[in-house]
Amino acid sequence: MIARNRESAGPSVAPADGTAALLHAEDATIPPRTAESFLTELRTRGVRRIDRVRFKANRTRLLSLSRDGRTLYVHTFFRTAPPDVLDAIALFLAARRRSPAHARAVAAIRGWGRLALRDHPDAVYARPAAEPRPGPCCGTPEQRRYLRDEYLRLNAERFAGRLPADLPIRLSRRMTRRLGHVRWHRRADGTRVVVELALNPDLFLAGNEAQLRDTLLHEMAHVEAWLEHGSAGHDAVWRRIARRVGCEPRACTRARIRRRARGAPPPARVP
Ligand SMILES: [Zn+2]
Repeated sequence: MIARNRESAGPSVAPADGTAALLHAEDATIPPRTAESFLTELRTRGVRRIDRVRFKANRTRLLSLSRDGRTLYVHTFFRTAPPDVLDAIALFLAARRRSPAHARAVAAIRGWGRLALRDHPDAVYARPAAEPRPGPCCGTPEQRRYLRDEYLRLNAERFAGRLPADLPIRLSRRMTRRLGHVRWHRRADGTRVVVELALNPDLFLAGNEAQLRDTLLHEMAHVEAWLEHGSAGHDAVWRRIARRVGCEPRACTRARIRRRARGAPPPARVP
């Protein structure tokens, strides 16, 4: 079934019979893959268009592609899928939609889902607690790549790599006055997570380069303050981190930033 969901406009595979509700399928013979090793295995099967794999315990999709087609979201139970299922995923990505090969790939992927279900009778079926999800990104693929690269670079250079590498980062079309925000969440078990880091697209206008970096650092300091200390504001914890990583330790910047004209579309340029 070709379906759309909120975060992907690309092709996706929905379960035919609710098999994606399986949360803890483990195949004794296949050690669980990391996102990186999963991607490597797809690459050895000729898949070139995917930059990133993300595992999700999402019960309504087995597989889906991000809007820009570069990120493959895979249900967590595929961590232990056998090689022929990875063959089918590679075929699913390569084959034309509605072609016989595509249909074969979808059938193989779903078939394994059913098999995994039958072999793991003690699997957990409970629907995971609803968790807030990142909002839509109005940036271009180049802007998203730029933000991702800057985030990873600053994380390595100023945060000793302690922030999560897969943090969702987006440009928010609805952000007008504020320059950025971080959305926090505490799970039922007490775990603190960051739902998203969002920036004002005006930061991509020419002349705002320094402010773009400062705002990104400001928000990244919030990520560290929340995840490591449970601090969710511009308190002493956040200010200490802000000084350490070299951004202005204030809630509101004194710097002037250029703004796009009212009603104009978000800028598409990359610094
Ligand atoms: Zn702030």
